[in-house]
Amino acid sequence: MNIHEYQAKEVLRQYGVTTPNGKVAFSVDEAVKAAQDLGTSVCVVKAQIHAGGRGKAGGVKVAKNLDEVRKYAEEILGKILVTHQTGPTGKEVKRLLIEEGCDIKKEYYVGLVLDRKTSRVVLMASEEGGTEIEEVAAKTPEKIFKEIIDPAIGLTGFQARRIAFAINIPKELINKAVKFMTGLYEAFINKDCSIAEINPLVVTGDGQVMALDAKMNFDSSALYRHADILAYRDLSEEDEKELAASKYDLNYVTLDGNIACIVNGAGLAMATIDIIKHYGGEPANFLDVGGSTNAEKVSEAFKIILSDQKVRGIFVNIFGGIVQCDAIAEGIVEAAKQVKITVPLVVRLEGTNVVKGKQILKDSGISITVADSMADGAEKVVSLVG
Ligand code: ADP
Ligand code: MG
Repeated sequence: MNIHEYQAKEVLRQYGVTTPNGKVAFSVDEAVKAAQDLGTSVCVVKAQIHAGGRGKAGGVKVAKNLDEVRKYAEEILGKILVTHQTGPTGKEVKRLLIEEGCDIKKEYYVGLVLDRKTSRVVLMASEEGGTEIEEVAAKTPEKIFKEIIDPAIGLTGFQARRIAFAINIPKELINKAVKFMTGLYEAFINKDCSIAEINPLVVTGDGQVMALDAKMNFDSSALYRHADILAYRDLSEEDEKELAASKYDLNYVTLDGNIACIVNGAGLAMATIDIIKHYGGEPANFLDVGGSTNAEKVSEAFKIILSDQKVRGIFVNIFGGIVQCDAIAEGIVEAAKQVKITVPLVVRLEGTNVVKGKQILKDSGISITVADSMADGAEKVVSLVG
């Protein structure tokens, strides 16, 4: 689960990480009031969306007086920001962070991520702050420094110091930088984060080490023990289809292609995506209807898929082990009654009650292309979508 920058900064402050003072605002008037309360000569109006790259897209503006705060708040609130992380459709700005303007001397990058190779948390840092770390990694990988953290010991002082020296933090600020990284690591562990990224971390004119931006991502399986973090959830930032799917216990992830998949079991779902790609198609989603699915769930799955404008074809690929093919067939029939299936539908059913399932589909009169195997189905749906 993602949270907003201003929320991440609230979390980080609890761990002694320095951030500029700031306040969230949901309206232009609130923004002006927040700037008044801050009382600083310069403040920054920042769009709060669950995506980075806001600065370049016009979502971060420096205001020198209250009139400018009003002007920028009017400009940014309600705007659809398109950044390299939002995708082409962009995201509507519904909240602003009004923050103290900061006298930046230099910007750095510091991040904590879970490294799959070592199965450990890795502290990454670079002198190239403010720019996308992916870009630094691609062009000048030698400018990224890493420390692998032993979970039994945690981030040690010498590791944090080694990083601080490597990225050329001014000598007199090394201790502050170490305290910063230690706090960041504690927040990461205590709150079960999967990412904590500070880009930029800045050194200021008056000798402070601060988080100017903050991105935190949390392991959703651990949210049950973090009511405070869960309270930060902003459903309006989440994918509508994924939300609807979660209500019915469907494992659904939106993808970029146009062939929708309805599959039981995560392994089969991944294999289905692979085989669609093998035949030259592009899957629109990953969908695992689960091992103990029923007609209602399948029907909901269809509705979610058909609400996706880019879907041009559907491939149902079910292996009935615990799941019974007749229940799947009933779900398809039920869905077809509620929503018109306007795109080609290819169905491959195999396993328990397959004969009964196929009969239900046949009797329903729904236009279906029957496939004999997974490969046959993938080939058929790709050619139908064209
Ligand atoms: P994003 O990463 O989404 O573009 P950031 O929060 O990193 O958004 O802001 C972009 C840039 O705006 C920063 O690199 C920094 O130069 C500037 N900036 C952000 N917040 C402040 C602030 N409080 N004071 C001064 N400059 C800021
Ligand atoms: Mg940033």
